[in-house]
Amino acid sequence: MMPHEHVAGFGTVDGELRVGGMTVSRLAARVGSTPFFAYDRALLDKRVNELRSALPARVELSFAMKANPMPAIVQHLAGRLDRIDVASGLELQTALDTTISADKVSFAGPGKSPAEIRQAVAAGILIEVESRTEFSRVLAAGDELGLAPNVAVRVNPDFAVKGSGMRMGGGPQQFGIDAEEVPGVLRDFATAGANVLGFHVFAGSQNLNAATIAEAQQRTVDLVSGLAEHLPTPVRYLNLGGGFGIPYVEKDQPLDLGAVAQNLHQLVDGPIRQRMPEARPVIELGRYLVGECGVYVTRVRDRKVSRGTTFLVVDGGMHHQLAASGNFGQAIRRNYPVAVGNRVEHASADTVTIVGCLCTPLDLLAKDVELPPADVDDLIVIFQAGAYGLTASPTAFLGHPAPAEVLV
Ligand SMILES: *Cc1c(COP(=O)(O)O)cnc(C)c1O
Repeated sequence: MMPHEHVAGFGTVDGELRVGGMTVSRLAARVGSTPFFAYDRALLDKRVNELRSALPARVELSFAMKANPMPAIVQHLAGRLDRIDVASGLELQTALDTTISADKVSFAGPGKSPAEIRQAVAAGILIEVESRTEFSRVLAAGDELGLAPNVAVRVNPDFAVKGSGMRMGGGPQQFGIDAEEVPGVLRDFATAGANVLGFHVFAGSQNLNAATIAEAQQRTVDLVSGLAEHLPTPVRYLNLGGGFGIPYVEKDQPLDLGAVAQNLHQLVDGPIRQRMPEARPVIELGRYLVGECGVYVTRVRDRKVSRGTTFLVVDGGMHHQLAASGNFGQAIRRNYPVAVGNRVEHASADTVTIVGCLCTPLDLLAKDVELPPADVDDLIVIFQAGAYGLTASPTAFLGHPAPAEVLV
């Protein structure tokens, strides 16, 4: 039996999945317990290099760290990317603990607390204001601290992007200031003592369609060129969002990065250069950077047959990797790619259903998948676990211990 394409991305060694340059069973022995998340440094670097060689040199790459806030990952990427985007005070602290300079950190997200705003102003990072009220709070914090805050206006665009797994722009949104309100807001706050460096438009997440991403970027450049006339200084910060998706289920086709990059080259060499010559365009990515470099590894605790269905019961589950289980009852649940990590090549196959150790039928990690025969103590590997895994899962549900996380 040939290993499937996700196994191929990691490679195999001695008939096992290779993670961090070693067999997954050796890695499990080193970690000392299952379940765990492992993030492969070489795959992370490969992804960064692919992006760097495809995108125009003038584009700054930012890591949206809510996708994976593990400090080792954030530090690793801080040394390889241009910027980090944070969405909470704790994330801000993690970013500031890396080697990246404060002026390369930006803070987006609705409902920032007064303490977070003061922390951000004091650190001198870029604050992406999501509303008029938030803008005033940032200015008040600047007054209080005797500092001129660095601000970008997050804009809720007057267009929506089709095909995003999650739409975060267009129509009514809790994110950003509606595009048509932005000139008035800029006028009202014009003399209030902030450095308004530019704009941020984030239209949506988990998009696999290069043409719609390209269209969103074109429309963003158009929109921001118009808004630029309302700034007293030239636009220096032009955050075009990102939303690059990764394939999770069989029907997903990987994103055509070349097509996205080609469009960005045209934008950078054309309208951005002509209309906003001082702007550094930023692409901010979470999932696309880290999602595919990570695996969730969990050990088979029990194998049982119930009326013709073979269940592998593992020591992990939805409390660590919620997304693979279908997010508390998603309308149509599909299997994430999965393998028997210590037995990737095998002559025969079994059809099994993999469930976690939680006492709920929702704790389903893979249904009716064909895998090499697996039994107690084998290692089940769930792919695409590098983004929105551990920190996006209900770890307190049933009170089992937290899994380990390693960057290898
Ligand atoms: C969550 C978020 C991202 C990252 O989205 P991905 O789909 O993981 O790339 C980027 N920008 C903003 C503003 C976000 O809130």
